[in-house]
Amino acid sequence: MTYNEICIALADAGIENDRGEAAMLICHFCGINKADLMQRREESFENSNLDAAVIKRCSHYPLQYILGYWDFCHETYRVTQDTLIPRQDTEKLVELAIRMMPEKARLIDLCTGSGCIAISALAARPDCHAVAVDLFEKTLEVAGENAETNKVGDRIGFLKGNVLDPVFMETLGDFDCILSNPPYIETHQIPLLEEEVSFEPETALDGGDDGLDFYRVIIGQYGKYLRRGGFMLLEIGCDQGKAVAAIAAEAGYRCEIYKDYGGNDRVTYLTRPELPS
Ligand code: GLN
Repeated sequence: MTYNEICIALADAGIENDRGEAAMLICHFCGINKADLMQRREESFENSNLDAAVIKRCSHYPLQYILGYWDFCHETYRVTQDTLIPRQDTEKLVELAIRMMPEKARLIDLCTGSGCIAISALAARPDCHAVAVDLFEKTLEVAGENAETNKVGDRIGFLKGNVLDPVFMETLGDFDCILSNPPYIETHQIPLLEEEVSFEPETALDGGDDGLDFYRVIIGQYGKYLRRGGFMLLEIGCDQGKAVAAIAAEAGYRCEIYKDYGGNDRVTYLTRPELPS
């Protein structure tokens, strides 16, 4: 298939970024770079893996899983169907963490998935250490691999644990910050999301009936693991700011909301007024 034929196939299937994706698929499966592709636009690439990938993409299987990797912040991550695909929206949380973490901070990333939050934060802050938690062994294997390829493996520990039942926290000590992009979609909304999302792990999306299950537990129960002056940065859905701020206020936190690059509410920054010692 030629570049143009692939563009047409993708566009016909309703893929928005048909040109960009066609280029990425050809470059990946034919081992060439974008500059080469410019010279070879008319060429018919005879590659059965490429053909199969185009067919798969036309069925709205995510490009990221077809390629097997995706960029996030300044790092590249392996992604499989055991991990949520890292979103650009989440880069805001990482950027804030990098800026706000004290010297030699110890952070914990809850619901780590591909590990992108903890790993990109550590990559930018060589003085810091992390623990990353996820419910699934297979997900943690991918995250562990991502820590190694991004050269932070010696500063991060992975732990299998259920974030909604924080018994595993008892033996971990305390942290300067708690970071999380927890599942936050309302259960009934999940079938209404774009088709690509149906291939992602539902457990990484489902935040319960009102989408707020994880915020209630993280904000309500994890505060005792924060050091003095510690903070939480939690990603939220663009319409969840008020609800999460209310949960935070009830638990005695100050809550600031930051927007992502698309201008939507995306991150809550939670701090506690210090208790007299
Ligand atoms: N922390 C991961 C990410 O931001 C996974 C989040 C999740 O599984 N809900 O991509």
